[in-house]
Amino acid sequence: MAVAALGHVGPAVTSIGPLRKKLWPQLCGVGNTHSIGLTFDDGPDPASTPLFLAALSEMGVKATFFVLGEMLDKAPELGRQIAAEGHEIGIHGWTHRNHLLLSYPQIRDEIRRTKARIQDIAGVTPRFYRPPYGVVTGGDLLAVRTQDMELVLWTSWGKDWQARATGESVIEELKKGGVVGGATLLLHDSDCTSAPGSWRSSLSALSELSSYCVEQRLDLVPLAEHMK
Ligand SMILES: [Zn+2]
Repeated sequence: MAVAALGHVGPAVTSIGPLRKKLWPQLCGVGNTHSIGLTFDDGPDPASTPLFLAALSEMGVKATFFVLGEMLDKAPELGRQIAAEGHEIGIHGWTHRNHLLLSYPQIRDEIRRTKARIQDIAGVTPRFYRPPYGVVTGGDLLAVRTQDMELVLWTSWGKDWQARATGESVIEELKKGGVVGGATLLLHDSDCTSAPGSWRSSLSALSELSSYCVEQRLDLVPLAEHMK
């Protein structure tokens, strides 16, 4: 968990911060000015994802779920449910290993294997890919190009993986990065790589996030819509 937390602070491209949004807007998920991309990483998780799906359904919001192949493999029905309820499925990798430690063939296979499993289970072909910890290597860039996918990180995160995170802290962190038109928000629907139960902070932030976006006249949408 300590490794995961450190990793989320992230080396490589993600540590460049605000400059990153200016240099590589598309990579960061800077999308349409009237919408905000809502994304969840690390699921699907039987312990938590159903609660996120229920909350989103109540709010009438669709999102993008960047799934891990090894999690999807253990909960295929959840993968089907995510797609059936109109959400988008993206690839986070088969495992959550740091790609700085992997070879190109290993990275390529992480993506390829997860893509095939998503197609088998949910009957959809994912367009977006987000590597674990947001660590973008040359291998990732090559792999997405050869597999006809798009790599997308985020403009703002809720730091919801921390044990001390609360619904309020998640909203506060998201606003630091900007809950504004064009933003892409990163949250987690599973604690499989972070502090146990930390997903509760994100879940409890959802309704306030949704109300805030309604007030600001911004639509929370999946990336396919945000990056149209
Ligand atoms: Zn992750």
